[in-house]
Amino acid sequence: MVPGVRLVVLGKQGAGKGTQCVRLSHHYVVPHVSTGDMLRGEVKSRTPLGLRARSAMDRGELLPDDLIMEMVGRRVTEGDTRARGFILDGCPRTIAQAKELERLLDPDPLDLVIDLEVPTPQVLKRLASRRVCVDCGSNYSVPSPPLTNWTCDVCGGEVIQREDDTEEAIQRRLDLYEAETAPLVKLYTERDLLVTINGTGSPDAVTRRVVGAIDNKRQMMRREG
Ligand code: AMP
Repeated sequence: MVPGVRLVVLGKQGAGKGTQCVRLSHHYVVPHVSTGDMLRGEVKSRTPLGLRARSAMDRGELLPDDLIMEMVGRRVTEGDTRARGFILDGCPRTIAQAKELERLLDPDPLDLVIDLEVPTPQVLKRLASRRVCVDCGSNYSVPSPPLTNWTCDVCGGEVIQREDDTEEAIQRRLDLYEAETAPLVKLYTERDLLVTINGTGSPDAVTRRVVGAIDNKRQMMRREG
């Protein structure tokens, strides 16, 4: 079996993070840990956390760091993630979250941080046509819908447009990405963990680039160590 991996995937909303993270989690046989999916699950089940999170999520605002890191901390310290690793999608989104993540993972650091780069006009176009399954979070789009009548091919759930994929909320999330998340690129560059991957082109081509980058990094580590 391929060795596991401990990976963070960064990128603007609509850069294809969700799609790539699902593919990478199958490739490396590790859980896909998506904070957005976890929170949408809480909202759907009307838990206290979900009720608290909903309006901020609908407006495209970030939730408080401590609330997010408590949720992520529980997940990345479970048996499966400790043993084989994880693909972390949607977190960290702030420097404070990144520092807390380092503390939670100690003594096993991240293998790599992938920054999926897609020009803003292209992500705006992708977001406008994005559709997701309300049950399992699978991604579709208007030009590439499920096989039957907006019913998820994976789980049979309803496929809809996300409530935070409105023009205002999208703009707010992209602004926040620049302000809060882009500094993470600097932090992870300093830690020598960051690899920028061209996120344009077919999903297969992007996955090949990411897997290639991880393999390269592992070869380098083996040579050095
Ligand atoms: P996403 O599906 O990753 O775009 O996340 C959807 C929404 O969940 C975001 O717009 C935020 O409101 C919230 N959220 C997800 N992850 C985080 C995080 N790491 N920090 C703060 N808020 C988050």
